[in-house]
Amino acid sequence: MTFPPNPPDQTTREALHARLRFYRELGIGELYRREVDPALWVQADTQPDTQPDTAVVEPSRPAASAPRPEPAAAPALFSTPDLYPSQETDIAPRKPFPAAPPQAAPLPPEQHFAALKLIREEIGDCTRCTLHKGRNKIVFGDGDPNAKLMFVGEGPGADEDAQGLPFVGRGGQLLNNMIQAMGLKREEVYIANVVKCRPPSNRTPEPDEAHTCSPFLFKQIDVVRPKVIVALGQTAVTYLTGEKRPLSGWRGVTHPFRGGAKLIVTYHPAFLLRDPNQKKHAWADLQIAMRELGLTPPARK
Ligand code: SF4
Repeated sequence: MTFPPNPPDQTTREALHARLRFYRELGIGELYRREVDPALWVQADTQPDTQPDTAVVEPSRPAASAPRPEPAAAPALFSTPDLYPSQETDIAPRKPFPAAPPQAAPLPPEQHFAALKLIREEIGDCTRCTLHKGRNKIVFGDGDPNAKLMFVGEGPGADEDAQGLPFVGRGGQLLNNMIQAMGLKREEVYIANVVKCRPPSNRTPEPDEAHTCSPFLFKQIDVVRPKVIVALGQTAVTYLTGEKRPLSGWRGVTHPFRGGAKLIVTYHPAFLLRDPNQKKHAWADLQIAMRELGLTPPARK
């Protein structure tokens, strides 16, 4: 992939974010920029254009009559750190994951509600990470403090940010349908996200943002003590487990998790909206959760 000489505009950046999220949900978590041999660049420039230009995009390639750039200058074009420092934040270098916070002792069920309230108070009007700058409302979590089933997503979107509740947009509607198909009501489960403030343009949370916010999620998990946790998408499972691997490497089985919970991984509802063909696979994942919970799906009407 080559990069244009000028930073992309907001629309292009949002399109790139959306594409990266799509790849991430497919399990492609790492993308690399490849240094292009200047000789190949010149060669591509001099060959007749007989095929659609799908591999190399050169928005500002000079006109044929314009003087060609010196080949020696080409590497600088691709070594973006100096030229495009703001873009480097999109592909953060991999850092070791900090260990999850120590597990808290279980509380009596009747104390769960008050304990969650205390966590919310601890968060306060949080400015611990940069995501606070663009948020309207902190999206703490929602549902039964004694739920046997917990869903963990990535972070709030526009609707969630406006209402202060998780999964209330189109993805939330789909999640509600998924919960209903399991024979449950939304009020019977608990729903939370890795980060509690909306990332700009719905981008994936940066590692430092997720690491700063996720201790609150672990505290919520330790209070609710669900029997089953369903991680919705790559970001959720990555920050729950501290391990990065393709979604395909997580799905289809249960994984032991803190508090004796079983972790099950499936696609994020937003991904299922983009690729409805994957719904049958998500349903297979939810059936694993149902088996763990001793649930049978309601009879079709
Ligand atoms: Fe605080 Fe979490 Fe919001 Fe960051 S995302 S500002 S850590 S509540």
